[in-house]
Amino acid sequence: SSSRDDRAGAAAPRPRIVLLPSAGMGHLAPFSRLAAALSSGHACDVSLVTVLPTVSSAEAGHLDALFAAFPAVRRLDFHLPPLDAPELSGADPFYVHYEATRRSAPLLAPLLAAAGAAALVADISLASVLIPVAKELRLPCYVFFTASATMFSFYAYYPAYLDGAGAGDDADVPGVYRIPKSSFPQALHDRNNLFTQQFVANGRSLSKADGLLVNTFDALEPEAVRALRQGSVVPGFPLVFTVGPLSPVSFPARACSDYSAWLDAQPERSVVYVSFGSRKALARDQLSELADGLEASGCRFLWVVKGAVVDKEDGAELSELLGEGFLQRVSGRALVTKAWVEQGEVLKHPAIGMFVSHCGWNSLTEAFAAGVPVLAWPRFADQRVNAGIVARRGAGVWVERWSWEGDPGLVKGEEIAEKVKSVMADDMLRRSSTEVLEAAMTAVAGGGTSYRSLAELVARCCDGS
Ligand code: UDP
Ligand code: UDP
Repeated sequence: SSSRDDRAGAAAPRPRIVLLPSAGMGHLAPFSRLAAALSSGHACDVSLVTVLPTVSSAEAGHLDALFAAFPAVRRLDFHLPPLDAPELSGADPFYVHYEATRRSAPLLAPLLAAAGAAALVADISLASVLIPVAKELRLPCYVFFTASATMFSFYAYYPAYLDGAGAGDDADVPGVYRIPKSSFPQALHDRNNLFTQQFVANGRSLSKADGLLVNTFDALEPEAVRALRQGSVVPGFPLVFTVGPLSPVSFPARACSDYSAWLDAQPERSVVYVSFGSRKALARDQLSELADGLEASGCRFLWVVKGAVVDKEDGAELSELLGEGFLQRVSGRALVTKAWVEQGEVLKHPAIGMFVSHCGWNSLTEAFAAGVPVLAWPRFADQRVNAGIVARRGAGVWVERWSWEGDPGLVKGEEIAEKVKSVMADDMLRRSSTEVLEAAMTAVAGGGTSYRSLAELVARCCDGS
């Protein structure tokens, strides 16, 4: 457009964009990456709202490191009023934090108004309450869906599914895939669950957003991206910006020298990296089977163990969780830790040969961007849908009958050991994972689909549309 050409000659405008993530590292990490990409890569003036207090220490530490590393990113603190909701006692602390933030949405208006921004990018879990606040302020509101485009298509379709005749069956997302009921986030089986209510309310609100961001790339999920853009999933769906895989922000000061030095000493592609993300802990009996399996595989491994949902409450010693004998038996060929590792960097280390993952979307985007094959072991929420993408794209393997949270089944150590060995030895899988990595690099490089998509978003923010 001519207005854009005029600006190219004059001083380039720096659109001010306010980012509003919600609770949990799975949401904060992609927002930090977006902040870095917009601020450093696309010369935007970025503010990040920090909703305090955070649920986990991991988030608090990450925020401190982020603002120290990116002084140009403004920090807008928002202190959450205490939530008076006895009915939610015992609910997942991250979902309770979403709910507290949702109920405080009107209180965010003065902060957003004072930011003088050209656009707001809000987390998906806050969509239905923030879109009206932004409209009132005449502030364009974009919604960032922090999981996969395939999951996004399910999310967007779900209200229509509930209203339709097929409710209760598998969900046949138009133009995408049939999502089996067994792959639905567990919470959705209960209509009164807090998560379900937020899920449906946010899903219904999406059409009112000015645009939608997804941390994926077109070649990874072509079916879902196309169906969303063509309006097959929801007619008249807003613009979809596919901006991934967003690059992890590197915090050298946070990297723990223990594991870096240990990794440096291991042969190339010899180490199995094991992590089930930041949100959940495996049940104790499953944890022991996994320990048995890793030991029996004979492989070297780096295992990040979590003993509780919230890190601050995770006081258990490793020896208590896994047994002193185990730690002694594997010492020398394994590093087991309860500390935070900079996973984006770990996965890029040449010593890593595969990733046993719960399939949180951020973890998967990091594996794709590192070309590391995944042994998918989804546990909850969107993770089975994500595991389907891993399997379909040849980025790893998924044993569908392995149990997930709420299933009574226990996956035995011998089976885990066999699967780990077979993935480590699978050259075809390594090649197809490398192809996924190459496609990811092409998408984010100058001229690639994700690069252009993010540039288009910035251009729209400049135009005030
Ligand atoms: N993560 C990390 N170090 C850890 C554990 C997790 O850096 O020790 C990061 C991981 O790389 C990812 C995020 O935390 O970026 C977790 O998000 P994901 O979507 O994978 O799963 P969730 O934790 O939300 O289940
Ligand atoms: N799948 C899933 N959730 C999805 C999409 C697929 O659980 O959102 C599973 C599906 O059940 C299948 C695998 O992922 O086992 C691959 O799916 P697809 O239908 O693409 O391939 P198929 O093997 O059926 O040809």
